[in-house]
Amino acid sequence: MDGKRDYYEVLGVGRSASKDEIKKAYRRLARQYHPDVSKEPEAESKFKEVNEAYEVLADEQKRSVYDRLGHAGLGGGMGGFSGGFDFGGFRDPFEIFEEVFGGFGFGAGGRRQRRGPRRGADLRYDLTLEFEEAVFGVEREIEVPRQETCNSCNGSGAEPGTSPVRCPECNGTGEIRRQTGFFINIGTCPRCQGRGEIITSPCRECQGKGRLVKTRRLSVKVPAGVDNGTQIRLSGEGESGTYGGPPGNLYVVIRVKSHPYFRRIDETIHLELAINITQAALGDEVEVPTLDGKEMMKIPAGTQTGDTIRLRGKGVPRLRRDGTNTSRGDQVITIQVVTPTNLTKEQRDLLLELGKTLDREVVPQREKSFFDRVRDALGV
Ligand SMILES: [Zn+2]
Ligand SMILES: [Zn+2]
Repeated sequence: MDGKRDYYEVLGVGRSASKDEIKKAYRRLARQYHPDVSKEPEAESKFKEVNEAYEVLADEQKRSVYDRLGHAGLGGGMGGFSGGFDFGGFRDPFEIFEEVFGGFGFGAGGRRQRRGPRRGADLRYDLTLEFEEAVFGVEREIEVPRQETCNSCNGSGAEPGTSPVRCPECNGTGEIRRQTGFFINIGTCPRCQGRGEIITSPCRECQGKGRLVKTRRLSVKVPAGVDNGTQIRLSGEGESGTYGGPPGNLYVVIRVKSHPYFRRIDETIHLELAINITQAALGDEVEVPTLDGKEMMKIPAGTQTGDTIRLRGKGVPRLRRDGTNTSRGDQVITIQVVTPTNLTKEQRDLLLELGKTLDREVVPQREKSFFDRVRDALGV
């Protein structure tokens, strides 16, 4: 994974490059490094690199993951869970090349067996959860439209009772040869898309495509402790493969709604609590909200703004890669002492009395600021 070059650098474009600029850069470089035409010794690996960069930067979702997390964000098929995004591996570079160049490459057709089984595409589903659902886990039904094998023709695309015939254009080879100058260009046959056979009576159910879009209801078990960007892989629930290929995977990507007063950083729940000056000076016992309901909490005498109080085990369950949980994190309460305003006459008199007894000298503080202390407590 590491030691990879930056994708923008590979394509020679800026980080804010438009889709068009990316495509243009790709076309130029893919032509230059195509192993069938390039004389450079490292053409093949450069070609792969260019295709990989294009695959990521041309896809909005992959690009945004890459922009945020770099190569690490694009994962590598670890477990079902990871902070990054697992795309189930990169595609065959020649496939991308053919897609962009419309089927006629520099001999791309001869290099790849298009007739072979092809794995179905991976799908992504964004699932938005309530704050508490992400913390404690939930089971949700989702509806996923996806390409599935047509039952009527079993994916062959031919009307039941008929069978495909040999493609007359390429004589069943799936390739077309064209001579231009010194080169013999071998491309995929456009008539049969490289399959070597064509369908004369297409299946009525799927119009000869062999696959149909169907909307499936799926149940997703979301484990406790998921967070923004966590993905859950449902193996084999992506699109059907073609010509007998295996199906792709479905990736459920979690989004978590924010909470009115809890803030979550990994397994820690943060809460800011405002208390008055007497509570701060004398100490108190107060009720605070936690994920498990209200809890009594002691405020020690002499509490300052920015002081933190930790409630152990009141945070988010730690989620392991295999989807099980270990212990729970903590809840951290950051105190803010509020100076009273709109005093009644009685309160004002009491404070004046108090004031007479307190030291009135002002001392410049070399201590950490409130914000520094909050930052320390949050670990950010
Ligand atoms: Zn069909
Ligand atoms: Zn053909």
